[in-house]
Formats: sequence, structure tokens, C-alpha cells
Amino acid sequence: MRPLLPPRSPSRAAPAPIPPGWEITSAEVTHSLARTFQNAAGDDGDALAAVYARLFVWDLDLRRDLQRGDKVDVAWRKDGRGDIEVIAARLHSGKLGRTVAAYRWQAPGDAFTSYWQEDGTEVPFRLKEAPLQDYEQITSLLKDRPSHAGMDFKTPVGTPVLSPRPGKITRVNWNWAANGNCVEVQYADGGLAKFLHLSENRVEEGTAVNAGDVIALSGNTGRSTAPHLHYQVEKGGKVVDPLDYHGTVRRRVEGASLQALMQETSRMDAILGQALASR
Ligand SMILES: [Zn+2]
Repeated sequence: MRPLLPPRSPSRAAPAPIPPGWEITSAEVTHSLARTFQNAAGDDGDALAAVYARLFVWDLDLRRDLQRGDKVDVAWRKDGRGDIEVIAARLHSGKLGRTVAAYRWQAPGDAFTSYWQEDGTEVPFRLKEAPLQDYEQITSLLKDRPSHAGMDFKTPVGTPVLSPRPGKITRVNWNWAANGNCVEVQYADGGLAKFLHLSENRVEEGTAVNAGDVIALSGNTGRSTAPHLHYQVEKGGKVVDPLDYHGTVRRRVEGASLQALMQETSRMDAILGQALASR
């Protein structure tokens, strides 16, 4: 039986109660990440492993870098669609010789939550020149699967889509069945960018655009199962990774924002600690 928990807000040392609706999964890695989560979370294991690996993809390739004896802790729940939503995740990594963590938190001024480390560093990298000012999360990277040529950004229908670089609109709405409303921009350096599944185009073929100009609103048209923007770049007829093409930055928060973040991470650690204590 689980002991009664103090109702007060916890310190790092005192485990906190697990809020209703949350699941805590903690496990020691025995085989692959997928097997570890299948054993620990049953039917939800595969989905949880995928979401977990995505969180740490910026620093680690968990197919290669995970070691027997590593420990994983995740606090998660299912959203209204049944998708797994991770609230906090930790990995005690033998390879790195330390614990890495990702905490869901909304930075002041941001429209959406993201994942952050305790030291104020955002976990996901951002494009230096991006097609969206803000988005919920990146749901697909080029390296995820060779059959998918772009980066996917989860974002509500109607989010302004910007041209990250100056160029000229070369096509709109080709192959509608697959792409839905779509816009193609030829950048000045020869790069060819495609923006797919839009709700509305704001430009016509032949229009010149500057960096930051709104060219469309994001949507869920064509072969798309949830609102998102598919952003693809080609150069010399070959698909290139937008992360390489545009370059990346990693944001940091400081001062009062960092204090707020640290308060949240210690609250999460206390919740994850509760799971460990009751194991
Ligand atoms: Zn896509």
C-alpha cells in the first residue's frame, strides 16, 4: 500500500504526490529502449519509447548510446486524442556518466510549452530561420525515416507560415491529393522550399517574398492526419536537412525565468522520486 503523502509542496528530498491522470514509468534498461518500455508500460510501451527517444534525440542517439543498466524515468499522460504527452523525463546514462532530463515548461512569452533542462537550456534545437514563429513541437525530423523528406511541425490550423529566406513563389497547389494546399519558394541561393498541408495560401505564383513574409496559414489538408506544417528543402534536386540548411540555435532562459523553471523541475523531480520510492 502506498503511504499517505504530505499535502505540502515538496522539496527535492520529499517525494510529491502523483497528480491524477499521470503515469510514472521507471525502469532499468535491459535490452533496447523499446523492450525496456514494453516491459515497464505494456501496451503503451512502444509509443512511450518513441516519444522518449524523440525528447533526447538532440543529445543522444538512443539506438546506439543506450547501455544496459541505464535508468529511465518518465511522467506522462494521454491527451484527448490518446497521444502520449510526456511531462518530465530523465535518463541516467552510463555513456554520458550523468543524468539528462527534459521537463515540459512554458517559457514566459512563448505560445506553447517546450522541453527544458534544469540549467535553463531548451532541449530541442530551433532553426535559425524558421517557417513558423512558434509551434507546439517538432514531430518528425529528416533522420527519422528515409521515406519522409521534410520536417513536421505540430501547430494549430491557421498559424502564419513565413518564408524563412527571400525568394520567389514558383508553384502553388500542385498534387493537391497528397500535399493539400501548398506553396513552393525558390530561395535566392537556389534552395527550393516546399510548405505542405496548408489551410490557406496567401501568395500567387511569381510573387517575390522577403524573409519573414507570411506566405500561408498552416492547416491539415491533403495527406495529413493532424494539424501540422510539413517543411521541406531541396538543393540541386536533392532533399537537404533544414537543420543543416538553416542552421540551429539552442535557446536559454536566465534570471527570473530560470528561477521559475528550476522551481518546476524540482517539483517534477519530487514526483519522479515518488515513483522510485514506491517501487
Ligand atoms: Zn511531413
